[in-house]
Amino acid sequence: MRIALVGNPNSGKTTLFNNLTGTNQYIGNWPGVTVEKKEGKVKNYKNISVIDLPGIYSLSPYSLEEVISRNYIINEKPDVLINIVDGSNLERNLYLTTQLIETGVPVVIAINMMDVIEKNKDVIKSQQIAKLLNCPVIEITALKSQGSNELIDAAIKVNQAKYDYQPVTWYSLEIENVIGKISLLIKDLVSKEKLRWYSIKVFEKDESVLKELNLDLSEELLKEISVIEAKLDDDSESLISTERYKFIGKFVDKVYLKNKIVAQSISEKIDRVLTNKYLGLPIFAVIIFLVYYLSISTVGGFLTDYVNDVIFGDGGLPDIIGGWLSSINSPIWLEGVLIDGVIGGVGAVLGFLPQMFVLFLLLGILEESGYMARIAFILDRIFRRFGLSGKAFIPMLISTGCAIPGVMAARTIEEENNRKMMIVTTTFMPCGAKLPIIALIAGAMFRGSSIQWLIAPSAYLLGIGAIIVSSIILKKFKAFAGDAAPFIMELPDYHMPRVKGLSFHVYHKLKSFVKKAGTIILFASVIIWFLSSYSWRLEMVDTELSILASIGKLIEFAFVPIGFGDWKAAVATFTGLIAKENVVSTFGVLYGFAEVSESGMEIWNLLNVDFTPLSAYSFLVFNLICAPCFAAMGAIKREMGSRKWTLFAIGFQTGLAYILALMFYRLGLLFSGTFNFFSIIAIVFLIGFAYLLFRPNPYLKKI
Ligand code: GDP
Ligand code: MG
Repeated sequence: MRIALVGNPNSGKTTLFNNLTGTNQYIGNWPGVTVEKKEGKVKNYKNISVIDLPGIYSLSPYSLEEVISRNYIINEKPDVLINIVDGSNLERNLYLTTQLIETGVPVVIAINMMDVIEKNKDVIKSQQIAKLLNCPVIEITALKSQGSNELIDAAIKVNQAKYDYQPVTWYSLEIENVIGKISLLIKDLVSKEKLRWYSIKVFEKDESVLKELNLDLSEELLKEISVIEAKLDDDSESLISTERYKFIGKFVDKVYLKNKIVAQSISEKIDRVLTNKYLGLPIFAVIIFLVYYLSISTVGGFLTDYVNDVIFGDGGLPDIIGGWLSSINSPIWLEGVLIDGVIGGVGAVLGFLPQMFVLFLLLGILEESGYMARIAFILDRIFRRFGLSGKAFIPMLISTGCAIPGVMAARTIEEENNRKMMIVTTTFMPCGAKLPIIALIAGAMFRGSSIQWLIAPSAYLLGIGAIIVSSIILKKFKAFAGDAAPFIMELPDYHMPRVKGLSFHVYHKLKSFVKKAGTIILFASVIIWFLSSYSWRLEMVDTELSILASIGKLIEFAFVPIGFGDWKAAVATFTGLIAKENVVSTFGVLYGFAEVSESGMEIWNLLNVDFTPLSAYSFLVFNLICAPCFAAMGAIKREMGSRKWTLFAIGFQTGLAYILALMFYRLGLLFSGTFNFFSIIAIVFLIGFAYLLFRPNPYLKKI
């Protein structure tokens, strides 16, 4: 017997799935896509398997999750559907239930979160719901493993009873009338249990079903559908969904009795402030500011200084290893590789580990407490004006860790155009690997400056800003035009972050960072050391005469207009394409991070020779916005599924980075009275930019 778990996102499917299967589970992917597929055997029942379908709000064919779930239910014919319903959100969850019942597969409804219902002293009349929908209803609390046994019993029972599908009808007579006619027309094409599902889908003119049945609707039927559409002034698909909601709306108040006294939970009270129409955004800005300020400028900064001081400063690792190497008379190149290459490069990056730790910890707290979900909700209000949905925030949020899963998360966006746009822009968020660059620039170039505290938060705002600005501009082109689908998201209750969840979160992110330092960055540092220590004749030379310098000098001119036309910065930008941490490790090798025995960030004082604060920030702008690392480019290619769009994405990112850095640097220079050819170009770009930004959107629907 096969059971499929179906329900809205966050209804508790995975929690229930884990209860039911314990450790008997296999995690894989759905064929052809990277949406997770979880299957398992029910504990103590060797012959019952369950599958955890992706969370969905409806069975329409618009998102990948919906298509996967729908195909599974219709084509793979599970024996029973267990529909998990979040009891505290009954009305919205039951919408999916009505669709599941129509599929003709026996449904058992599991009303979850009963602990919350009971705590609120609400009452759910399950037996009445069972009668209305004609299927068993079991109350469960997945979190405390309550009700799983009853649920399995009920599933076994409906499977054993010779299932006699009795459609409950919730549509108005005139719609039922047409559905009935469609049923007559297609009754030989589909099985008896599926007849109603197919008839309704034909009424909705669902393309995949029409294709599957190879059905040409007769003129007469089409006319009848359009008569109803005209009369009720909506398309047939919306009519069906409206009537489902109406049906649920009619009884939900009678089966879900809310206790008026605790009508407003603590979470709702907090939300009245945090997601307030006017306060929501400023509070968000302050919180994000604090996160970056604390992690890069204060707490994280102190720790990083300490690490640099103790481990890499006077008497630290370079001195210890250096002393040891000379005591064993090691060849000079070995000392070079180990101290200047490995410690200089990898050490420079690892020095920022404490800051990364604090950042991931704080972001983890925001996520665990439930605040992150609110940000999507708050940003939705702004994004919507530009035709973007708050859903876009999900890839952005994930990209603050790493752009690769961020790009993949763009899949949750249904509309193809918006999804593509998100894939192109989400890498603008400062990912974990870009953090050392930000921290380096903030710590070394703005040390003691009155605006130092602004640098790190500004990098985050730059990322969001670049996404919004790009979206506004791209939306006005046909390839990206179109409105965003309405964004519905369940806001989980706030809760205290759990130590377990947090440490998991932080540990995994730091682990992959350290792993990268020990592999790619180590490798790149050694190569950079070699290329910067030897001449083409393979003699050890001064850096300025090295192979790398000669290559770097070939490309440095390209960066002159944006302020860092020094070969070292050019090379660092390129090595950043392998992994963004390489920007810092390359500087570490080239500026001799391991050699200068000074304390804390002062190790980096040499950077001041080649950078001014203005050019350093321009460098930051370019490196944050330009093409991401190769691995992320690979993710873009996979998700775009097209070479053309991948090239567009990389070109757009790098082009935008260049233009922004150019405008920033050249317009900034105007303040110090430097005006030249490049200033004119920057002004031209500024005007062009303003035009693209403010011209009317030819594709915007007039509401
Ligand atoms: P899924 O998205 O449907 O797979 O949902 P999850 O199983 O991941 O659960 C979503 C959230 O709801 C998690 O934070 C769970 O801990 C929580 N949750 C699940 N079941 C219950 C329950 O019975 N009571 C309460 N209070 N929370 C629950
Ligand atoms: Mg889940």
